[in-house]
Amino acid sequence: MKKEFAKLEGATILVTGGAGFVGSNLIKQLLDCGARVICFDNFSTGKKENITEFFSDSNFILIEGDANKKEELFQAFKDSTVDYVFHYAATVGVVRTIEQPLAVLHDIQGIQTILEFSRQRGVKKVMFASSSEVYGEPLELPEKEDGRLNAELPYATVKLIGEHYLKAYYTTFGLKTCSLRFFNVYGPKQDSSSYGFVAGVFLRQALQGNNLTVFGKGNQTRDFVYVDDNIEASLLALVSDSTNGKVMNIGVGKPTTILQLAQAVQHLCHNPKVAINFLPLRKGGEIIHRCPDINKMKEYINFVPQYSLEAGLQKTFEWYKNNLERLSL
Ligand code: UDP
Repeated sequence: MKKEFAKLEGATILVTGGAGFVGSNLIKQLLDCGARVICFDNFSTGKKENITEFFSDSNFILIEGDANKKEELFQAFKDSTVDYVFHYAATVGVVRTIEQPLAVLHDIQGIQTILEFSRQRGVKKVMFASSSEVYGEPLELPEKEDGRLNAELPYATVKLIGEHYLKAYYTTFGLKTCSLRFFNVYGPKQDSSSYGFVAGVFLRQALQGNNLTVFGKGNQTRDFVYVDDNIEASLLALVSDSTNGKVMNIGVGKPTTILQLAQAVQHLCHNPKVAINFLPLRKGGEIIHRCPDINKMKEYINFVPQYSLEAGLQKTFEWYKNNLERLSL
């Protein structure tokens, strides 16, 4: 454990969306740091299988509820002093957020309630999972936190509202907050279904001996961040006062084309039958380029990601291979 994380030992930390991909990986790290973790999730997209490994840990508490319903979220605050909050519950996935724009809008209620309960109860810091979607199709590359935004999707709009509210609560009430703009996170436990995310989707397809479905020519770019790097950056941002009231990109800063990703997965699976199928681009919400400027991450928390794409994909591939029953269509 990093010495910076010593202050998390014995702290009570609420993770909303704790049964999701990033949330459940985060909880593992928090428990390893000796924190007491309240996992709050309504299992709409989060999965029980993601958290069953924690059930035997006396520092793990599960509360089932909807973060957008005030009375339900109150259950997470009523019995204990919550020291820190990670508000990760949200409607996620490009396809789902376009299919359910109103569900996305409800997420504003959750953000509002988290901030208000945190302020009233003296929470020490609130972390918010924002997204690189706020840049939309970028007006400038690399994408800078204080640069120009081009948010268009309902999902991106709600994330921006969240960021602004967090900042407002810091400047107005002194509640410490930080919004993290996640670039494309991948790793064990990621949803590999057709509602899922491209690295998980390709790995599932490869392990099932199917062709990889590349949309368009595959020359769209993304910045792939292995989940352990995302979490280390998030924890450093939690414990560092330099991020208070700030927005910070969490990325690698190295764009990868989707075709390169598909080829890397082909290389990993060693199955000559796994070819690449080029399909039409998704309709609506398709971003062509994405690449973060990571100078703020270096400046605020002195962090650069440790995993190369090959190393992170290898670990993810091994995990899926050992958990084939978790592959979902
Ligand atoms: N993609 C693809 N094939 C798939 C799923 C996704 O080529 O089966 C592409 C998609 O068109 C996009 C990129 O992979 O350019 C990342 O998609 P994802 O939904 O994982 O995340 P996004 O960054 O778009 O939110």
